[in-house]
Amino acid sequence: MASKRVAVVTGSNKGIGLAIVRSLCKKFDGDVILTSRDEGRGKEAVKQLKEKESLNPVYHQLDITNAQSIEGLVTFVKDTYGGLDVLINNAGIAYKSASTAPDLEQATVTMATNFTATLNISRAFFPLLRPGARVVNVASFTGKLSKYGPAVKAKFTDPNLTEAGLVSLMEEYISVIREGKASELGWNNTKYGTSKTAVIALSKIHAKELAASDKKDILVNSCCPGWVKTDMAGDRAPLTPDEGAVTPVTCALLPPGSPNGEFWRDQKVSEW
Ligand code: NDP
Repeated sequence: MASKRVAVVTGSNKGIGLAIVRSLCKKFDGDVILTSRDEGRGKEAVKQLKEKESLNPVYHQLDITNAQSIEGLVTFVKDTYGGLDVLINNAGIAYKSASTAPDLEQATVTMATNFTATLNISRAFFPLLRPGARVVNVASFTGKLSKYGPAVKAKFTDPNLTEAGLVSLMEEYISVIREGKASELGWNNTKYGTSKTAVIALSKIHAKELAASDKKDILVNSCCPGWVKTDMAGDRAPLTPDEGAVTPVTCALLPPGSPNGEFWRDQKVSEW
């Protein structure tokens, strides 16, 4: 008997992640794992989905910045399902614009969660991906290349950029912030936006890598959910979390032969 299909959504106790779980519970043929760094918040979200909406996600703890926590979820998925069919890297953070935390701290913490931890989750789960799997990295329109000077832009778009090269580029970015030379050197984006540019670049690198592997028809795409009313974006945002989940879920359920390594917005491939 074939193993049951399974999807993992990171940071899904609230906001867009929770809405992605809700949608996948209705549309995905398999189990959907709702994960959260805080067990209480995650289990409460599962309880609400069960009691109020008769949906049935599975719960597992996951702090994407904690290696032991990642290992715990990888072991659970491997032992329970024998593989993974959908990975949605949704968890992310953003400092509020009013934050008084020093620039270097903001850059380091934002990059560690939004880029490095996303990379670590993907690396940990890639061996489990089954043929036909879908990986979706929730990025943002703030990661668009138009925000950089030509030299930085060329580094992000270098067709020979590797995962290690991208990690070095992000280390270079942190050094630039430490030296206070971001604008001077063409790193004109926000710290959050730069972390999302890195996620888009990473998705392209991973898409190429998996396309060249022996596991066929795996697609890795990044996307912008739109400007969505959540704790991160605030009340002025026009979209509901359910509306914000539409593009990530579209990318998670793409049929064979769909675009790979692209940046999606409004359910379409969009310019980076
Ligand atoms: P929220 O702040 O509402 O939710 C973020 C989720 O990520 C929460 O579940 C949070 O958990 C979780 N999270 C943060 N850090 C970690 C961690 N270390 N380990 C595990 N989970 C973690 O934000 P949104 O729903 O708005 O954002 C979801 C994604 O969409 C993010 O990647 C964001 O950058 C992106 N995005 C959002 C936009 C918007 O307009 N809202 C626009 C463009 C992109 P906890 O509850 O414990 O904090």
